[in-house]
Amino acid sequence: MIGPDDHAAPGRVVLHVDLDAFYASVEVRDDAALRGRPVVVGGLGPRGVVAAASYEARRFGIRSAMPMARARRACPDAVFLAPRFAAYEEASRAVMAILHDVTPLVEPLSLDEAFLDVTGSLRRLGPGPEIARSLRARIREETGLVASVGIAGTKMLAKIASDLSKPDGLLVVAPGTEDAFLRPLPIRRLWGVGPATQRRLAALGVSTVGDLADLPVDAVIRSLGPSVGRHLHDLANNVDDRPVVPEREVKSIGHEETFPTDVDRRDELERHLARMGDRVAARLRAAGVVARTVQLKLRYGDFRTLTRSTTLPGATDRTADVTGAARRLLAGLDVEPGVRLLGVSGQNLARRPAVQEELPFGTADRPAAVGRRPGRRGRDTRRLDGAVDAVRSRFGDAAVGSAALLAPGGLVVDRRGSLWGPASEQDPEVGAGPTGPTRSRRRGAGGAGGQDPEEDREP
Ligand SMILES: [Mg+2]
Repeated sequence: MIGPDDHAAPGRVVLHVDLDAFYASVEVRDDAALRGRPVVVGGLGPRGVVAAASYEARRFGIRSAMPMARARRACPDAVFLAPRFAAYEEASRAVMAILHDVTPLVEPLSLDEAFLDVTGSLRRLGPGPEIARSLRARIREETGLVASVGIAGTKMLAKIASDLSKPDGLLVVAPGTEDAFLRPLPIRRLWGVGPATQRRLAALGVSTVGDLADLPVDAVIRSLGPSVGRHLHDLANNVDDRPVVPEREVKSIGHEETFPTDVDRRDELERHLARMGDRVAARLRAAGVVARTVQLKLRYGDFRTLTRSTTLPGATDRTADVTGAARRLLAGLDVEPGVRLLGVSGQNLARRPAVQEELPFGTADRPAAVGRRPGRRGRDTRRLDGAVDAVRSRFGDAAVGSAALLAPGGLVVDRRGSLWGPASEQDPEVGAGPTGPTRSRRRGAGGAGGQDPEEDREP
């Protein structure tokens, strides 16, 4: 469907680049023994949900956001893995860097997908499909991952095209063919049409995008309200001039877990905190950022939720600093009612300075170093963190951890019985926050349009 006169097309050229089965693909890439097998990544405990499933697993009907217990019943022989966020973030950074070689106009929607506005790059790099082909080749070569790409004049069409092209696809909606492409699609393909909206539209006799486009806008507004109604009616008519907004700053990196049963023992919570602080710090390092503020989140069994934060004297990406701050925050909170969920996040982020460890008089910069020789311990913990990251990237997260992570049962790095994943419960404070690790980037992507929760939004 490549238009003969791409160059002459007056409008924009938008690419939507989306890695296939991202978390699962990183696992398969890093462990050849998983190749060809159904692989499911997510929370492995009783409240766990699926975060990603390989295409082999999807043949058994396994999908993201499905309860893990259901996935296990669907395919007991699949490989079930707890997520390794540091590895995913590192892969994501590598992919985003490749995208930025094409244009600064890169808008990430999550770790594994982004919009690119390549309109200004056409003269230099050739037509959209050529850019897409070379991006796919580079991503495969340099990261070992497969990206599908959609190309169109608008963000929504580009995204729909990449979805339809999966797996391992490239689909172009050529100028002039937009309506022919869009109108026959089932209405759920439209951005922002979830199950509830779909039911309301069905009551109006709408099953395809074309059906909606042909309705008088007033009828749609009566059913869906003025803002949603008008917006969806516009989208159905391919009116979508939302720009590609370059990368927002990541606002926080965090990790939170819901326990299988409420925990009221402080020492046990502190052990969980040590593991989470370790996880958050590793993710800060993988993302190349430092946090000035550490936040602790705690939810009781009755869903009452508290957050406490502390601003450090200097920005950090060190396990000891993050964990220490989280521990001090926990010390000020009552845990006796029983804690259902605990979370730690690094906030107030900045790019990590390249020569941070060379700074003299480092104590103020390093809360963990108080009482020790200036700079010395800072360097040591940095070296230790670096060594831990290196071993983990080769042998997995459970290979190494600090003594603080020792639980009665042995070394626990990523508790296999933990929940991971979105929305098996709703956060009463923020509305619809995922109960999985905080993903500000994804949350911050709302400007790009609503996400259909039932859409195949596999990371
Ligand atoms: Mg994806």
